[in-house]
Amino acid sequence: MNSDIAVKNHDLKAGFVSLVGAGPGDPDLLTVKGYRVIQQAEVVVYDRLVSEQILALADANAELIYVGKKLDFHCVPQEQINQILVQKAQEGKRVVRLKGGDSFIFGRGGEELEELAEYGVAYEVVPGITAAAGATAYAGIPLTHRDHAQSVQFITGHVQKDGREIEWQSLAQSNNTLVFYMGLKQSGHIMDNLIAHGLDPQISCAIIENGTRPEQRVFQGKLNELALLAEQAQSPALIVVGSVTELHNKLDWFNK
Ligand code: SAH
Repeated sequence: MNSDIAVKNHDLKAGFVSLVGAGPGDPDLLTVKGYRVIQQAEVVVYDRLVSEQILALADANAELIYVGKKLDFHCVPQEQINQILVQKAQEGKRVVRLKGGDSFIFGRGGEELEELAEYGVAYEVVPGITAAAGATAYAGIPLTHRDHAQSVQFITGHVQKDGREIEWQSLAQSNNTLVFYMGLKQSGHIMDNLIAHGLDPQISCAIIENGTRPEQRVFQGKLNELALLAEQAQSPALIVVGSVTELHNKLDWFNK
């Protein structure tokens, strides 16, 4: 038997966009399908959190277009990214749109596909390991556990597009694991609201910085220490709230 995984020889077609999730950081966490299409791409449109080793898989002649945050912290506007994708596909190019983690989890993948659909551009979606799954796995924190949490919620710490507040009441009342993306700057707000809405201030929480990368750091403490913990941490980081985070002390393997 061939040792290569040859379930299906996937070919990236001309005039087609493959929306690929690159995973949370460790380049080995890219899917086999993602690996294949990146190698075949003529154009790779990529974001800030995509690791260099994954970009290096692209053909030497491929056009690499960076659309993440610049040094002055300004992003390429979303409409411009959409236009680039439509234009390159309409030129008949084989296009990979490469995003950190999974494109459908706080990645605006849906918005980009809506635009492609509107212009009649064909596409596929290659899922990636989202930061919540990757970073907690590498921190030894099971997102669910029969003794701790029956469900998990992924929440954005960013203010919503329409300015709506997070529904703190339902988050604080549940017995879930809560994972906040983009929440580092909002950690005081998150801590205060969860406690104000009834979550136990003594419940365990963790911040995972640079999850799955060699420089990964985990800060673990109580919910009422969250803002203090966040002062030590840097982006990209996830905030995990729930008693599953206690298991980090026992199950950590990556930072050992
Ligand atoms: N689509 C991505 C999320 C993009 S939002 C995904 O599925 O993972 C960006 C946020 O993701 C960051 O602010 C941070 O909260 C989180 N994040 C991404 N990579 C991370 C990593 N390696 N470690 C910790 N958090 C990470």
